[in-house]
Amino acid sequence: MDTKTIKCNKCNNNAIIFQKYSGMHLCRKHFIEDVERKIKLTIRKHYSVKRNEIIAVGLSGGKDSSTTLHILHQIFGKRPDIELVGISIDEGIEGYRPDTIESAKELTEKLGIRHIVRSFKEEYDTTMDEIAPQQREKGACSYCGVLRKSLLNKIALEVGATKLAIGHNLDDEAQTLLLNHLKGDVSRMVRLAPPKELEGLVLRMKPLRHIPEKEVALYAYLHDLPLGFGGCPYAHEAMRREIRVMLNDFEVRHPGTKYALLSGFDKISGILGREFPQEGLSQCRICGQACTEDVCQACKLLKRNQ
Ligand code: SF4
Repeated sequence: MDTKTIKCNKCNNNAIIFQKYSGMHLCRKHFIEDVERKIKLTIRKHYSVKRNEIIAVGLSGGKDSSTTLHILHQIFGKRPDIELVGISIDEGIEGYRPDTIESAKELTEKLGIRHIVRSFKEEYDTTMDEIAPQQREKGACSYCGVLRKSLLNKIALEVGATKLAIGHNLDDEAQTLLLNHLKGDVSRMVRLAPPKELEGLVLRMKPLRHIPEKEVALYAYLHDLPLGFGGCPYAHEAMRREIRVMLNDFEVRHPGTKYALLSGFDKISGILGREFPQEGLSQCRICGQACTEDVCQACKLLKRNQ
């Protein structure tokens, strides 16, 4: 639909977006307000931020994490008792990651935020470019995701962070939910619910979980934030990619599908949590990170000391 001559439903300005799921045409001002209102509501409802907190932000440098940092800075930047720290992980993917890390560096400098960059090479003595060509049981993204998550948590603990914000948007959440359904992985699904405090695991917050990916991209564009970089060379391996295509197709034909998937889950997540309580955490006997078994997933994947 051509929105150039269509007016905003809230004022007389030209609309820049049509939200099919809400039926609203919005101008620049009201679109930005809408995104920020939803994010503030998500933070208030799920991740109450108290006084004297350090919030670490997983900052790949792409549109989602840059938008997350930008908005958290807007909300908490003037609070002297809250510190934001950007953490970028260099997984060692030539031709992809160096550009996004450069962009993360520029953003943190512009906002005056502490920025930590740590690599798989330093931490695990390997890179995704070394792992990918090996004979392996799982897709490249499974290795990358587990190792990055573990390292992000480790650094967040080191800096004394009480929350770790990540840039998962509505599309990511809906895809993960469906993926876990299709794999019958209920325990992973339970972990998608807004988390509880657990010793050794910095509480993860997802301020963008109600914002569709396209709207994050438009918000990033309107704020001159990084938009996109060439895709990761290993992304094609993921089953998530198929789910993404399927969900996008559904969303076009049935607007609101992604919201419905997430809000339906949010309604039953309490019941699921009671039926399938999260196991208590212990320490990995190899690396000392919090985990539910004797050895954490990262050490298992790296076949450390086994
Ligand atoms: Fe890592 Fe997969 Fe993302 Fe590439 S697409 S950065 S391999 S998780």
